[in-house]
Amino acid sequence: MILCDTHCDTLYALATRPGQATDVTMERLQKAGISLQTLALYVGGSPKKEDVQVLFDNMLRVFDRLKDQGWQQAMDPREAEDGKVKVMLSIEGCELLEDGLESIGLWRGRGVRMAAITWNYENGLGTPAKLNATEGLKPYGRQAVREMARVGMAPDTSHLNEQGFWDILEMGIVPLASHSCCKALCGHCRNLSDEQLKALFAAGGYVGLNFYPWFLSDDGKCTLDTLCDHVIHMLELGGEGRIGFGSDFDGIEEKVPGLESPLDVPALIAALERRGVTGDILEGIAGKNLLSYYDRFDPMIK
Ligand SMILES: [Zn+2]
Repeated sequence: MILCDTHCDTLYALATRPGQATDVTMERLQKAGISLQTLALYVGGSPKKEDVQVLFDNMLRVFDRLKDQGWQQAMDPREAEDGKVKVMLSIEGCELLEDGLESIGLWRGRGVRMAAITWNYENGLGTPAKLNATEGLKPYGRQAVREMARVGMAPDTSHLNEQGFWDILEMGIVPLASHSCCKALCGHCRNLSDEQLKALFAAGGYVGLNFYPWFLSDDGKCTLDTLCDHVIHMLELGGEGRIGFGSDFDGIEEKVPGLESPLDVPALIAALERRGVTGDILEGIAGKNLLSYYDRFDPMIK
């Protein structure tokens, strides 16, 4: 079974807390049978460009070190293979893509295949859900999203506000949300409303389910069944073939009991099976749906 995860903050953890244990390790990815783990270059604790530059440089150094240790980088999600672990880069917060469209192609050249327009800071592209729901994409944000689609970097709407999300869809470019959940089941501003989910699924987009308890339930109390509830809710909104996992490991300080690291992902798959999500639908959620998203995304604008 191909197993994919569209978000973790392991590069940030290794760059900023060296020597400390991480949720995601190669040994765990291998044991869990993960085929493709996306590693985020995350904008971090300050939106100041100099700080972000230093942090990204440090995370890229960590990434080079991991590759020296044998971690294998996928430049395309469709390189994912059953029984082999590959890692792919993403960006979380486009602060370093603000100053010119040519930077987008450079990051794509390094293998970045998805980029969250914002983290929780407003930037030159857009406004995060954390600040308001109503401010749309900025003019440069529109240009940047078009350029991302041209070069094959999926715009990631996790953290982006609602109007920004609609602006991307209205441009005819179908984004993904690498680590987001259902607002109908947990009211956090980061989550996607039924209306957003329906539109995203109908257009061919993709959502990676976040494992953070506070995005899954309003009181933060969760079991594996709470995650199943979100999956089933998305399936009811047309999410078949459109959803997967975006764990947020190494970026979340609290965990759902029984879902503490990649080692527990097979338990989540077993829980989904117990809830009646089986066969091709389950196999798609485990990983194949991400691959087919890129089959739809890549030819969009060339
Ligand atoms: Zn995040």
